[in-house]
Amino acid sequence: MRLRALAPAKVNLCLFVGGPRGDQRHELVTLLESISLADELELSTGSGETAEDEVSCPGVGGPNLVSSVLAGLRERGWRAPPVKVDVLKRIPVAGGMGGGSADAAAALRLAAELDPLPADAAGELAASLGADVPSQLSPGAVIGTGAGEIVEGTAPLAPHAFLILPQRFGLSTADVYAEADRIDSTRAREELVRRRAALSRALAGGEPLPAALLVNDLEPAAFSLRPEIGEALEAAREAGCDHAMVCGSGPTVIGLYWGEDAERRAAQASHTLRPRFPKAAGAVPVTAGFGLPLVA
Ligand code: ATP
Repeated sequence: MRLRALAPAKVNLCLFVGGPRGDQRHELVTLLESISLADELELSTGSGETAEDEVSCPGVGGPNLVSSVLAGLRERGWRAPPVKVDVLKRIPVAGGMGGGSADAAAALRLAAELDPLPADAAGELAASLGADVPSQLSPGAVIGTGAGEIVEGTAPLAPHAFLILPQRFGLSTADVYAEADRIDSTRAREELVRRRAALSRALAGGEPLPAALLVNDLEPAAFSLRPEIGEALEAAREAGCDHAMVCGSGPTVIGLYWGEDAERRAAQASHTLRPRFPKAAGAVPVTAGFGLPLVA
């Protein structure tokens, strides 16, 4: 049996970051959106080649989050026969687009299709693998609070699309948060509460979000570690986007386009910039159906 699922990347349209909590994770308020740039997972059983679960993920070294999902499910009593999961990476690795979390969430969706997951296993395992994983279980747009693990749905946003400018280098999320602490670019708790309220008000209006909310508090830290990011931000602006920003912990840069012709404008910008940024791509928001498993 073979099943496939897409694992969409996420962008943070806003990312307000507070100080570290008791568990050393940072408190945050973020608007996360799944997009059409996606990894592809294929799960197969019955090859008879292996008595153990196996994960192949070319381009990613070290322990893989998809292997952690399978191991975590087995520990919790998941009884499917041994599986092989092949991951085709399209999301930039260590790019701030939540690729590992997206793969973990897609692996959970595939696993549930094969054999029902033990009660509560998906949510509990997702939260234990990373603050971003729960929000990726069902792709779409959500507001994340806590350390990102508390997620709630949001009203539809005004039509928009993205230009994605992956870099030739990656950044460790932990290093970027440490740099944000070092340069003191985090916010007081009351300020996070105010931003959360302002975000809800803006979303209720259904209009393009104001620039005051399109803010990534990790951008100064990412920029401090890799000043080259400035060139990509400048390139996105020159390509006519309405707003350019670093995505999550970076270093990927996104250009945001609002309006009915946003997808066309973003695609055109990606073509224009490809000689300088070979992996430049256009992307659009996606909803839960995009990540559903299908028989391969
Ligand atoms: P964040 O979720 O913090 O935005 P990111 O998008 O910057 O993370 P990822 O691409 O998710 O970064 O990967 C960070 C690290 O996780 C990689 O350097 C890699 O070592 C490890 N990793 C484990 N599994 C995966 C996977 N399936 N895809 C990508 N990276 C993985």
